[in-house]
Amino acid sequence: MNIILLGPPGAGKGTQASRLEAARGMVQLSTGDMLRAAVKAGTPVGLQAKAVMEAGALVSDEIVSGIIGERLDMADTANGVIFDGYPRTAAQADELDKLLAARGRRLDHVIELLVDEDALVERIVGRYTCAKCGEGYHDRFKQPAVAGVCDVCGSTEFKRRPDDNAETVRTRMAEYRAKTAPILPIYEARGLVARVDGMADIDQVTSEIAAVLDGTTA
Ligand SMILES: [Zn+2]
Repeated sequence: MNIILLGPPGAGKGTQASRLEAARGMVQLSTGDMLRAAVKAGTPVGLQAKAVMEAGALVSDEIVSGIIGERLDMADTANGVIFDGYPRTAAQADELDKLLAARGRRLDHVIELLVDEDALVERIVGRYTCAKCGEGYHDRFKQPAVAGVCDVCGSTEFKRRPDDNAETVRTRMAEYRAKTAPILPIYEARGLVARVDGMADIDQVTSEIAAVLDGTTA
């Protein structure tokens, strides 16, 4: 079972990928991680990539394909892989098919975690934590029992992350849409795309993804 997992920041993609790894022995593959690992291990393609990066150039599609190919040949991918952040273009999508086919594999599903942008903004912008113990709170969903006093430790100091603002969230959503726009129609045309509500309870999202993988969706 080989899948592409898509979802904007805040959709819980990392959590779901970890759960798939734990439950099914799949391996999450992000191009950045694979590239760093190949360079570090000094694989043939890793050495090429290292030379290119040291020259200050961008790593070509050809090198990325080589690195993915090397990674797919490793035994730990036998139970399936979760592609994260790849492919980004039609050419890469085509290349991925070839890489998999050359190994007698195929892409089984493209799962997109959907979020409601306004709800995501509300969820992220309202959150804050106790400055002392780190307990999480939310302006709307989880206020301390006594206003301004941490339920856990009694501290009266709280903090917010500077990037938890509406503008940052909306920018990230726009970036996500721009990155996935070239490939989603390709996989939609092939009937591979399944959409799961990323705003649902984490366990619910996990079971909906499982239903897609197991072919038990309605
Ligand atoms: Zn506290």
